[in-house]
Amino acid sequence: MTSPRILVVEDEMPIRRFLRIALESAGMTMLEADRGRLGIERAATEAPDVVVLDLGLPDMDGRDAILAIREWSQMPILVLSVRDAETDKIAALDAGADDYVTKPFATGELLARLRALLRARRPQSVETSALRFEDIVIDFAAHTVTRGGANVGLTRKEFDVLALLARHAGRLVTHSRGPHPTAHSRRPSHCALPASGALSADGARLVPLRAPCRALAPTSAR
Ligand code: CA
Repeated sequence: MTSPRILVVEDEMPIRRFLRIALESAGMTMLEADRGRLGIERAATEAPDVVVLDLGLPDMDGRDAILAIREWSQMPILVLSVRDAETDKIAALDAGADDYVTKPFATGELLARLRALLRARRPQSVETSALRFEDIVIDFAAHTVTRGGANVGLTRKEFDVLALLARHAGRLVTHSRGPHPTAHSRRPSHCALPASGALSADGARLVPLRAPCRALAPTSAR
């Protein structure tokens, strides 16, 4: 079995150094980032098994980093923070964190919680930060769509619809799972994106995103 890879997003170097010793002596591999943005980037590019995340980061609040990662990944996130108020814990867990440990922490407990997260890990079937359909690339971490290397200007909502359909390519996506569950009642209750066809046929296929869902349904299903 390969050693679990733990990404530690923490701006305090002594804590990173301490964690490296603790994690490596427990047979884990530690990746690190000292800023939130870098942490999100490394989470996307390195696909760690667990993210250990500080909340008080120099460039952003750790809660926003959780929200950013949760837009495209269900990788386990353990918050490690000095903030011990119940409201902080609730906010972090509601944002999508899986566990919360306050500093100062007991190494044995932290390692046990990491092992529990590793055991409970969901299959990483759609744990990819970017999808490619011929010359079209959907980058979930950067929130961009490029075609032939050129940026395709989508609004945030258009991107969300496209990302949802792309992640479920070839499967039906029910309306309630979409980003706009209460949108227009006259839209079909579900739509689907063929495994690769809808986005690769021609550039015009991206235009119908302005009328999400209905326009992306396969021709035969309309
Ligand atoms: Ca900090």
